[in-house]
Amino acid sequence: MILPKVNRLPPEQVQEITEIVESFGCRIQPIIGAVRTIYAIVGDERDELMINRLEGLPYIERIDRIQSPFKLMDIRSDLSTHQITIGGVTLGKAPLFIAGQCTIDPKNPGYFYETAQAVKEAGAHVLRGGVWKPRTNPYAFQGDDKSLEILMEASRRTGLPVDTEVMDEDQLKLALDAGVPMLQVGARNALNYSLLRHIGAAVAGRKTIVLLKRSLHMGTLNEFISAAEYIANFGNPSVILCPRGTAPALDGYRNHPDESIVPLLKERSWAPVVVDPSHSVGKASYVPACALAALAYGADGLCVEAHVQPSKGIGDDPKQAVTPDVLAETIRLAREVWALRHPAKR
Ligand code: PEP
Ligand code: MN
Repeated sequence: MILPKVNRLPPEQVQEITEIVESFGCRIQPIIGAVRTIYAIVGDERDELMINRLEGLPYIERIDRIQSPFKLMDIRSDLSTHQITIGGVTLGKAPLFIAGQCTIDPKNPGYFYETAQAVKEAGAHVLRGGVWKPRTNPYAFQGDDKSLEILMEASRRTGLPVDTEVMDEDQLKLALDAGVPMLQVGARNALNYSLLRHIGAAVAGRKTIVLLKRSLHMGTLNEFISAAEYIANFGNPSVILCPRGTAPALDGYRNHPDESIVPLLKERSWAPVVVDPSHSVGKASYVPACALAALAYGADGLCVEAHVQPSKGIGDDPKQAVTPDVLAETIRLAREVWALRHPAKR
């Protein structure tokens, strides 16, 4: 829908917008009001270049899009019945709990094996463990290829499927070759379209699931869903959206908690939403409340950092990992909140 700055466009300007939209296979339908005339674009109005050309005209106020920019992840797409199953849970049918350490310590693998067993006993379905870490400080521990073996060994010992973040093509290949069933795209890379495309191409034709964190700098929800569309576009639509807090706008929490966007995402996309309360608030004592709020907002699950001895952890664990007993209680309460939200599925 084209909204001009003036009440009615003169014929030469109508001619100009008509030529632009016709070159993209659309046509113009004026909607004539008593005072103002607006111009509907009839046809597939998703072409970014067409919108840019129209928005660039000095006499145009704005273009309102009626069609969704997503072909695959849109709530109205044919994929809306697509089901994602991992760890015995089909997203949407029961809450999914992903838990484990922020970072695997390759020098002390025993902690990770103990954490793996403990999160399983607490009720987690998927074990998380950071092999490679995006760190703000270039001198901080960056992860280690050796941790991939520890991650897979913990998976064998517990029978839990695992989730780890990949940040480049080499890590992507190593993780897929090792058989990692869930790949995490971190907040810092959720806007790295080249990496999203590489991941999309690599998981196409596989059962791999991608957990896509929300970028610290994502504003609109469409930006988030479009990042998922980048991956799905290659053929594997098993992408889970993971709000984890955006750039902090308040002091106190590590990020600006954003579990409240769950219902908004669900109005636009069929993609399951699993909230990460750990990075949202950044402190273990605040994590359970944020986790329960996420479920109350309609989240399909949680991704929680947990450690058997947080103070011995590396990465984020000393600050924000919950202990297995806190995790178990959070999962128990989260199931109750989920059941209240989904009375028919109890
Ligand atoms: C993590 O999961 O440990 C992590 C680094 O997350 P994020 O990308 O959301 O910061
Ligand atoms: Mn972390």
